[in-house]
Amino acid sequence: MPETDYDALFRSALDRLHGERRYRVFADIERVAGRFPAARWRRPDGETRDITVWCSNDYLGMGQHPEVVAALTETAQRCGVGAGGTRNIAGNTSPLVDLEHELADLHGKEAALVFTSGYVSNQTGIATIAKLIPDCLILSDAFNHNSMIEGVRQSGCDKKVFRHNDLAHLEELLREARDRPKLIVFESVYSMDGDVAPIGAICDLADRYGAMTYLDEVHAVGLYGPRGAGIAERDGVMHRVDVIEGTLAKGFGVVGGYITGTAALCDAVRSHAPGFIFTTALPPAIAAAATASIRYLKRSAAEREAHQRQAARTKVVLAEAGLPVLETDTHIVPVMVGDAELCKAAADRLLERHGIYIQPINYPTVPRGTERLRITPSPFHGEAHIARLADALVEVWDALDLPRAGTVFVEAAE
Ligand SMILES: *Cc1c(COP(=O)(O)O)cnc(C)c1O
Repeated sequence: MPETDYDALFRSALDRLHGERRYRVFADIERVAGRFPAARWRRPDGETRDITVWCSNDYLGMGQHPEVVAALTETAQRCGVGAGGTRNIAGNTSPLVDLEHELADLHGKEAALVFTSGYVSNQTGIATIAKLIPDCLILSDAFNHNSMIEGVRQSGCDKKVFRHNDLAHLEELLREARDRPKLIVFESVYSMDGDVAPIGAICDLADRYGAMTYLDEVHAVGLYGPRGAGIAERDGVMHRVDVIEGTLAKGFGVVGGYITGTAALCDAVRSHAPGFIFTTALPPAIAAAATASIRYLKRSAAEREAHQRQAARTKVVLAEAGLPVLETDTHIVPVMVGDAELCKAAADRLLERHGIYIQPINYPTVPRGTERLRITPSPFHGEAHIARLADALVEVWDALDLPRAGTVFVEAAE
Protein backbone atom coordinates (compact mmCIF):
# COMPACT_ATOMS: atom_id res chain seq x y z
CA MET A 1 0.00 0.00 0.00
CA PRO A 2 1.33 3.45 -0.81
CA GLU A 3 1.63 5.59 2.29
CA THR A 4 -0.09 8.95 2.02
CA ASP A 5 1.12 11.62 4.40
CA TYR A 6 -2.30 13.24 4.83
CA ASP A 7 -1.19 15.94 7.21
CA ALA A 8 1.53 17.04 4.75
CA LEU A 9 -1.25 17.88 2.29
CA PHE A 10 -2.80 20.26 4.77
CA ARG A 11 0.55 21.80 5.62
CA SER A 12 1.33 22.40 1.97
CA ALA A 13 -2.11 23.98 1.45
CA LEU A 14 -1.25 26.39 4.26
CA ASP A 15 2.21 27.01 2.77
CA ARG A 16 0.56 28.02 -0.50
CA LEU A 17 -1.61 30.55 1.35
CA HIS A 18 1.42 31.94 3.17
CA GLY A 19 3.26 32.17 -0.15
CA GLU A 20 0.42 34.16 -1.69
CA ARG A 21 0.22 36.35 1.45
CA ARG A 22 -3.36 35.15 1.92
CA TYR A 23 -2.99 33.37 5.23
CA ARG A 24 -5.37 34.91 7.76
CA VAL A 25 -4.85 35.36 11.46
CA PHE A 26 -7.83 36.04 13.71
CA ALA A 27 -7.38 38.40 16.64
CA ASP A 28 -8.64 37.09 19.98
CA ILE A 29 -11.19 39.71 21.02
CA GLU A 30 -13.76 39.97 23.78
CA ARG A 31 -16.52 42.52 23.24
CA VAL A 32 -17.65 44.40 26.32
CA ALA A 33 -21.44 44.74 26.66
CA GLY A 34 -22.44 48.29 27.51
CA ARG A 35 -19.17 49.74 26.23
CA PHE A 36 -19.40 49.15 22.46
CA PRO A 37 -17.17 49.74 20.46
CA ALA A 38 -14.69 49.05 23.28
CA ALA A 39 -13.32 45.52 23.50
CA ARG A 40 -10.44 43.59 25.01
CA TRP A 41 -7.76 42.10 22.86
CA ARG A 42 -5.85 39.11 24.18
CA ARG A 43 -2.43 39.16 22.56
CA PRO A 44 -0.71 35.94 21.56
CA ASP A 45 1.53 36.33 24.66
CA GLY A 46 -1.59 36.31 26.86
CA GLU A 47 -1.45 40.00 27.80
CA THR A 48 -4.81 41.80 27.53
CA ARG A 49 -5.29 45.30 26.12
CA ASP A 50 -8.25 47.65 25.70
CA ILE A 51 -9.02 48.37 22.06
CA THR A 52 -11.61 50.11 19.90
CA VAL A 53 -13.35 48.09 17.20
CA TRP A 54 -13.86 49.89 13.88
CA CYS A 55 -14.97 47.07 11.59
CA SER A 56 -17.93 45.41 13.28
CA ASN A 57 -20.94 44.38 11.23
CA ASP A 58 -23.02 44.76 14.39
CA TYR A 59 -23.61 48.12 12.76
CA LEU A 60 -25.89 49.63 15.38
CA GLY A 61 -24.54 47.87 18.45
CA MET A 62 -27.84 45.99 18.79
CA GLY A 63 -25.90 42.93 19.99
CA GLN A 64 -25.57 44.66 23.36
CA HIS A 65 -28.91 46.48 23.43
CA PRO A 66 -30.55 45.99 26.85
CA GLU A 67 -33.93 44.96 25.33
CA VAL A 68 -32.22 42.40 23.09
CA VAL A 69 -30.04 40.97 25.86
CA ALA A 70 -33.07 40.83 28.19
CA ALA A 71 -35.17 38.96 25.60
CA LEU A 72 -32.38 36.43 25.18
CA THR A 73 -31.73 35.80 28.86
CA GLU A 74 -35.42 35.76 29.83
CA THR A 75 -36.24 33.26 27.07
CA ALA A 76 -33.24 31.07 27.88
CA GLN A 77 -34.31 30.97 31.53
CA ARG A 78 -37.84 30.03 30.48
CA CYS A 79 -37.21 27.67 27.55
CA GLY A 80 -33.63 26.51 28.04
CA VAL A 81 -30.89 26.83 25.50
CA GLY A 82 -31.18 24.51 22.51
CA ALA A 83 -34.03 24.10 20.02
CA GLY A 84 -34.13 20.34 20.55
CA GLY A 85 -33.71 19.36 16.93
CA THR A 86 -34.57 20.21 13.37
CA ARG A 87 -38.01 21.73 12.90
CA ASN A 88 -39.07 18.52 11.15
CA ILE A 89 -38.37 16.64 14.36
CA ALA A 90 -38.83 19.09 17.22
CA GLY A 91 -41.55 21.22 15.64
CA ASN A 92 -41.57 25.00 15.78
CA THR A 93 -40.69 26.84 18.95
CA SER A 94 -43.14 29.68 19.63
CA PRO A 95 -40.43 32.38 19.58
CA LEU A 96 -39.43 31.22 16.08
CA VAL A 97 -43.04 31.46 14.86
CA ASP A 98 -43.25 34.98 16.30
CA LEU A 99 -39.97 35.89 14.60
CA GLU A 100 -41.23 34.76 11.20
CA HIS A 101 -44.40 36.85 11.62
CA GLU A 102 -42.27 39.83 12.58
CA LEU A 103 -40.09 39.40 9.48
CA ALA A 104 -43.01 38.97 7.08
CA ASP A 105 -44.50 42.16 8.51
CA LEU A 106 -41.14 43.98 8.28
CA HIS A 107 -40.89 43.35 4.55
CA GLY A 108 -44.61 43.52 3.77
CA LYS A 109 -44.67 39.92 2.52
CA GLU A 110 -47.09 37.06 3.14
CA ALA A 111 -44.53 34.87 4.86
CA ALA A 112 -40.96 34.46 6.08
CA LEU A 113 -38.72 31.48 6.67
CA VAL A 114 -35.80 31.56 9.12
CA PHE A 115 -32.48 29.72 8.62
CA THR A 116 -29.45 29.30 10.85
CA SER A 117 -27.55 32.05 9.03
CA GLY A 118 -27.78 34.50 6.17
CA TYR A 119 -25.25 32.36 4.36
CA VAL A 120 -27.47 29.29 4.56
CA SER A 121 -30.57 31.26 3.60
CA ASN A 122 -28.91 32.34 0.34
CA GLN A 123 -27.23 29.04 -0.39
CA THR A 124 -30.17 26.74 0.17
CA GLY A 125 -32.83 29.39 -0.60
CA ILE A 126 -31.57 30.32 -4.07
CA ALA A 127 -30.75 26.72 -4.95
CA THR A 128 -34.20 25.50 -3.91
CA ILE A 129 -36.19 28.32 -5.50
CA ALA A 130 -34.35 28.00 -8.82
CA LYS A 131 -34.68 24.20 -8.85
CA LEU A 132 -38.44 24.51 -8.43
CA ILE A 133 -38.64 26.65 -11.59
CA PRO A 134 -38.31 24.35 -14.64
CA ASP A 135 -35.65 25.47 -17.14
CA CYS A 136 -34.76 28.45 -14.93
CA LEU A 137 -32.01 30.80 -16.09
CA ILE A 138 -30.33 32.68 -13.22
CA LEU A 139 -29.03 36.18 -13.85
CA SER A 140 -26.50 37.02 -11.17
CA ASP A 141 -24.71 40.29 -10.40
CA ALA A 142 -20.93 39.99 -10.82
CA PHE A 143 -20.30 41.24 -7.27
CA ASN A 144 -22.70 38.89 -5.50
CA HIS A 145 -21.65 37.42 -2.17
CA ASN A 146 -20.18 33.92 -2.03
CA SER A 147 -23.35 32.56 -0.37
CA MET A 148 -25.38 33.59 -3.44
CA ILE A 149 -22.80 32.18 -5.84
CA GLU A 150 -22.97 28.87 -3.98
CA GLY A 151 -26.77 28.93 -4.13
CA VAL A 152 -26.67 29.51 -7.87
CA ARG A 153 -24.09 26.75 -8.33
CA GLN A 154 -26.01 24.22 -6.22
CA SER A 155 -29.23 24.89 -8.14
CA GLY A 156 -27.59 23.28 -11.16
CA CYS A 157 -29.44 25.81 -13.35
CA ASP A 158 -27.95 27.75 -16.24
CA LYS A 159 -26.57 31.07 -15.11
CA LYS A 160 -25.36 34.28 -16.67
CA VAL A 161 -23.43 36.91 -14.78
CA PHE A 162 -24.26 40.54 -15.51
CA ARG A 163 -21.71 43.29 -15.00
CA HIS A 164 -22.07 44.85 -11.58
CA ASN A 165 -25.18 47.08 -11.39
CA ASP A 166 -25.16 47.31 -15.21
CA LEU A 167 -28.80 47.64 -16.32
CA ALA A 168 -27.97 47.59 -20.04
CA HIS A 169 -26.07 44.33 -19.70
CA LEU A 170 -28.82 42.81 -17.58
CA GLU A 171 -31.41 43.83 -20.19
CA GLU A 172 -29.33 42.32 -22.97
CA LEU A 173 -29.20 38.97 -21.13
CA LEU A 174 -32.93 39.11 -20.31
CA ARG A 175 -33.76 39.78 -23.96
CA GLU A 176 -31.58 36.90 -25.16
CA ALA A 177 -33.33 34.53 -22.74
CA ARG A 178 -36.68 35.17 -24.44
CA ASP A 179 -39.59 33.22 -22.89
CA ARG A 180 -37.51 31.17 -20.51
CA PRO A 181 -38.25 31.56 -16.75
CA LYS A 182 -35.63 33.84 -15.25
CA LEU A 183 -34.46 34.64 -11.71
CA ILE A 184 -32.45 37.82 -11.09
CA VAL A 185 -30.30 37.59 -7.94
CA PHE A 186 -28.62 40.69 -6.56
CA GLU A 187 -27.81 42.69 -3.44
CA SER A 188 -28.98 46.11 -2.26
CA VAL A 189 -25.84 47.38 -0.48
CA TYR A 190 -22.60 45.81 -1.72
CA SER A 191 -20.56 45.61 1.41
CA MET A 192 -17.02 46.06 0.12
CA ASP A 193 -17.47 49.15 -2.10
CA GLY A 194 -20.54 50.38 -0.21
CA ASP A 195 -22.50 51.04 -3.41
CA VAL A 196 -26.22 50.45 -3.93
CA ALA A 197 -28.20 48.59 -6.60
CA PRO A 198 -30.86 50.40 -8.70
CA ILE A 199 -33.57 48.14 -7.27
CA GLY A 200 -36.54 49.92 -8.89
CA ALA A 201 -34.94 49.86 -12.34
CA ILE A 202 -34.07 46.16 -11.96
CA CYS A 203 -37.74 45.49 -11.03
CA ASP A 204 -38.80 47.44 -14.15
CA LEU A 205 -36.65 45.10 -16.27
CA ALA A 206 -37.97 42.07 -14.40
CA ASP A 207 -41.53 43.18 -15.17
CA ARG A 208 -40.79 43.87 -18.82
CA TYR A 209 -39.09 40.50 -19.40
CA GLY A 210 -41.13 38.35 -17.04
CA ALA A 211 -38.36 37.60 -14.52
CA MET A 212 -38.51 36.92 -10.79
CA THR A 213 -36.34 38.97 -8.40
CA TYR A 214 -34.31 37.82 -5.36
CA LEU A 215 -32.68 40.56 -3.32
CA ASP A 216 -30.04 40.20 -0.58
CA GLU A 217 -30.56 43.08 1.90
CA VAL A 218 -28.04 41.73 4.41
CA HIS A 219 -26.09 45.01 4.72
CA ALA A 220 -29.24 47.14 4.82
CA VAL A 221 -31.78 45.51 7.15
CA GLY A 222 -32.14 47.47 10.36
CA LEU A 223 -30.17 50.31 8.78
CA TYR A 224 -32.30 51.84 6.00
CA GLY A 225 -35.97 52.60 5.46
CA PRO A 226 -38.50 54.13 7.88
CA ARG A 227 -38.92 50.81 9.75
CA GLY A 228 -35.47 49.39 9.06
CA ALA A 229 -36.53 46.98 6.31
CA GLY A 230 -33.70 48.04 4.01
CA ILE A 231 -32.97 49.93 0.80
CA ALA A 232 -36.04 48.57 -1.04
CA GLU A 233 -38.21 50.03 1.71
CA ARG A 234 -36.32 53.34 1.61
CA ASP A 235 -36.78 53.50 -2.17
CA GLY A 236 -40.49 52.60 -1.96
CA VAL A 237 -40.05 49.44 -4.07
CA MET A 238 -40.18 46.70 -1.44
CA HIS A 239 -43.53 45.37 -2.73
CA ARG A 240 -42.00 44.95 -6.19
CA VAL A 241 -39.24 42.53 -5.13
CA ASP A 242 -40.37 38.90 -5.08
CA VAL A 243 -37.95 37.52 -2.49
CA ILE A 244 -36.12 39.60 0.11
CA GLU A 245 -33.35 37.85 2.01
CA GLY A 246 -31.67 39.20 5.12
CA THR A 247 -29.56 38.41 8.15
CA LEU A 248 -30.32 38.71 11.84
CA ALA A 249 -26.59 38.96 12.56
CA LYS A 250 -25.51 42.36 11.29
CA GLY A 251 -27.84 45.36 11.77
CA PHE A 252 -30.01 43.31 14.15
CA GLY A 253 -26.96 42.19 16.12
CA VAL A 254 -27.96 38.56 16.81
CA VAL A 255 -27.56 35.54 14.48
CA GLY A 256 -29.61 33.75 11.81
CA GLY A 257 -30.91 34.48 8.32
CA TYR A 258 -34.20 34.48 6.45
CA ILE A 259 -36.12 34.87 3.26
CA THR A 260 -39.49 36.57 2.85
CA GLY A 261 -41.95 36.19 -0.03
CA THR A 262 -45.31 34.67 -0.85
CA ALA A 263 -46.79 32.02 1.42
CA ALA A 264 -46.45 29.43 -1.35
CA LEU A 265 -42.79 30.22 -2.00
CA CYS A 266 -41.80 30.07 1.69
CA ASP A 267 -43.81 26.86 2.17
CA ALA A 268 -42.17 25.28 -0.88
CA VAL A 269 -38.68 26.19 0.37
CA ARG A 270 -39.58 24.90 3.86
CA SER A 271 -40.61 21.62 2.27
CA HIS A 272 -37.68 21.17 -0.13
CA ALA A 273 -34.55 22.98 1.05
CA PRO A 274 -31.91 20.61 2.49
CA GLY A 275 -30.21 23.48 4.34
CA PHE A 276 -33.47 24.11 6.14
CA ILE A 277 -34.72 20.56 6.69
CA PHE A 278 -31.61 18.79 7.89
CA THR A 279 -30.25 21.18 10.50
CA THR A 280 -31.25 22.09 14.04
CA ALA A 281 -33.38 25.21 14.31
CA LEU A 282 -32.20 28.46 15.88
CA PRO A 283 -32.57 28.33 19.67
CA PRO A 284 -35.74 30.01 21.02
CA ALA A 285 -33.71 32.55 23.00
CA ILE A 286 -31.91 33.64 19.84
CA ALA A 287 -35.22 33.95 18.00
CA ALA A 288 -36.66 36.05 20.84
CA ALA A 289 -33.59 38.30 20.86
CA ALA A 290 -33.86 38.81 17.09
CA THR A 291 -37.56 39.64 17.39
CA ALA A 292 -36.82 42.18 20.13
CA SER A 293 -34.15 43.80 17.95
CA ILE A 294 -36.40 43.99 14.86
CA ARG A 295 -39.32 45.38 16.90
CA TYR A 296 -37.10 47.98 18.52
CA LEU A 297 -35.65 49.15 15.20
CA LYS A 298 -39.10 49.26 13.58
CA ARG A 299 -40.14 51.98 15.99
CA SER A 300 -36.84 53.76 16.64
CA ALA A 301 -35.07 55.65 13.85
CA ALA A 302 -32.59 57.34 16.22
CA GLU A 303 -29.95 54.62 15.74
CA ARG A 304 -30.27 54.76 11.94
CA GLU A 305 -29.91 58.53 11.94
CA ALA A 306 -26.91 58.49 14.27
CA HIS A 307 -25.35 55.71 12.18
CA GLN A 308 -25.58 57.73 8.97
CA ARG A 309 -24.38 60.88 10.73
CA GLN A 310 -21.29 59.23 12.23
CA ALA A 311 -20.44 57.43 8.98
CA ALA A 312 -20.67 60.70 7.03
CA ARG A 313 -18.58 62.45 9.68
CA THR A 314 -15.91 59.72 9.55
CA LYS A 315 -15.65 60.04 5.76
CA VAL A 316 -15.19 63.82 5.99
CA VAL A 317 -12.55 63.66 8.72
CA LEU A 318 -10.52 60.91 7.01
CA ALA A 319 -10.72 62.61 3.62
CA GLU A 320 -9.59 65.91 5.18
CA ALA A 321 -6.60 64.06 6.59
CA GLY A 322 -5.60 63.15 3.02
CA LEU A 323 -6.50 59.46 3.28
CA PRO A 324 -7.75 57.63 0.16
CA VAL A 325 -11.36 57.14 1.24
CA LEU A 326 -13.49 55.44 -1.39
CA GLU A 327 -16.59 57.54 -1.99
CA THR A 328 -19.74 55.64 -1.02
CA ASP A 329 -23.44 56.43 -0.65
CA THR A 330 -23.71 54.26 2.42
CA HIS A 331 -22.42 53.63 5.93
CA ILE A 332 -19.37 51.73 4.68
CA VAL A 333 -16.05 53.60 4.66
CA PRO A 334 -13.35 51.81 2.64
CA VAL A 335 -9.84 53.26 2.93
CA MET A 336 -7.75 51.95 0.07
CA VAL A 337 -4.29 50.41 0.36
CA GLY A 338 -3.92 48.43 -2.87
CA ASP A 339 -1.46 45.81 -1.62
CA ALA A 340 -2.09 42.71 0.48
CA GLU A 341 1.05 42.81 2.58
CA LEU A 342 0.85 46.54 3.27
CA CYS A 343 -2.83 46.20 4.12
CA LYS A 344 -2.01 43.54 6.69
CA ALA A 345 0.93 45.58 8.00
CA ALA A 346 -1.32 48.64 8.37
CA ALA A 347 -3.91 46.65 10.32
CA ASP A 348 -1.21 45.14 12.57
CA ARG A 349 0.28 48.54 13.31
CA LEU A 350 -3.15 50.06 14.05
CA LEU A 351 -3.80 47.35 16.59
CA GLU A 352 -0.33 47.18 18.16
CA ARG A 353 0.41 50.90 18.38
CA HIS A 354 -3.00 52.49 18.53
CA GLY A 355 -5.37 49.89 19.97
CA ILE A 356 -7.58 50.17 16.90
CA TYR A 357 -8.97 47.01 15.38
CA ILE A 358 -9.74 47.01 11.64
CA GLN A 359 -9.50 43.73 9.79
CA PRO A 360 -7.58 44.02 6.47
CA ILE A 361 -9.69 43.13 3.44
CA ASN A 362 -7.62 41.22 0.92
CA TYR A 363 -8.13 38.89 -2.04
CA PRO A 364 -10.35 36.89 -2.61
CA THR A 365 -12.86 39.10 -0.75
CA VAL A 366 -11.84 41.98 -3.05
CA PRO A 367 -9.82 41.91 -6.31
CA ARG A 368 -6.04 42.06 -6.00
CA GLY A 369 -4.82 45.66 -6.27
CA THR A 370 -7.86 46.96 -4.37
CA GLU A 371 -6.94 45.74 -0.87
CA ARG A 372 -8.35 48.02 1.77
CA LEU A 373 -9.32 48.72 5.34
CA ARG A 374 -13.10 48.54 5.58
CA ILE A 375 -14.26 50.86 8.32
CA THR A 376 -17.78 50.65 9.75
CA PRO A 377 -18.65 53.56 12.03
CA SER A 378 -21.59 53.05 14.40
CA PRO A 379 -23.80 55.36 16.46
CA PHE A 380 -21.38 54.66 19.31
CA HIS A 381 -18.29 55.99 17.52
CA GLY A 382 -18.27 59.58 18.75
CA GLU A 383 -16.29 62.63 17.70
CA ALA A 384 -13.33 61.69 19.93
CA HIS A 385 -13.19 58.15 18.48
CA ILE A 386 -13.17 59.57 14.95
CA ALA A 387 -10.39 62.06 15.76
CA ARG A 388 -8.29 59.29 17.29
CA LEU A 389 -8.89 57.07 14.28
CA ALA A 390 -7.78 59.79 11.87
CA ASP A 391 -4.59 60.47 13.86
CA ALA A 392 -3.78 56.77 14.03
CA LEU A 393 -4.36 56.23 10.31
CA VAL A 394 -2.17 59.21 9.42
CA GLU A 395 0.64 57.85 11.63
CA VAL A 396 0.36 54.44 9.96
CA TRP A 397 0.11 55.91 6.45
CA ASP A 398 3.29 57.97 7.12
CA ALA A 399 5.17 55.07 8.68
CA LEU A 400 4.38 52.63 5.85
CA ASP A 401 4.36 55.24 3.09
CA LEU A 402 0.89 54.23 1.90
CA PRO A 403 -0.95 55.83 -1.02
CA ARG A 404 -2.78 59.10 -0.37
CA ALA A 405 -6.05 60.54 -1.59
CA GLY A 406 -6.07 60.90 -5.36
CA THR A 407 -4.33 57.58 -6.05
CA VAL A 408 -6.06 55.42 -8.64
CA PHE A 409 -6.44 51.78 -7.58
CA VAL A 410 -6.80 49.27 -10.38
CA GLU A 411 -7.61 45.60 -10.20
CA ALA A 412 -4.60 43.45 -10.98
CA ALA A 413 -5.10 41.14 -13.96
CA GLU A 414 -5.68 37.56 -12.80
C1 LIG B 1 -22.53 38.40 5.65
C2 LIG B 1 -23.28 38.20 4.37
C3 LIG B 1 -24.17 37.13 4.21
C4 LIG B 1 -24.24 36.02 5.21
O1 LIG B 1 -24.95 36.39 6.34
P1 LIG B 1 -24.62 35.66 7.72
O2 LIG B 1 -25.85 35.87 8.53
O3 LIG B 1 -23.40 36.31 8.27
O4 LIG B 1 -24.37 34.22 7.41
C5 LIG B 1 -24.96 37.08 3.08
N1 LIG B 1 -24.88 38.02 2.13
C6 LIG B 1 -24.01 39.05 2.23
C7 LIG B 1 -23.96 40.06 1.14
C8 LIG B 1 -23.17 39.16 3.34
O5 LIG B 1 -22.27 40.13 3.42
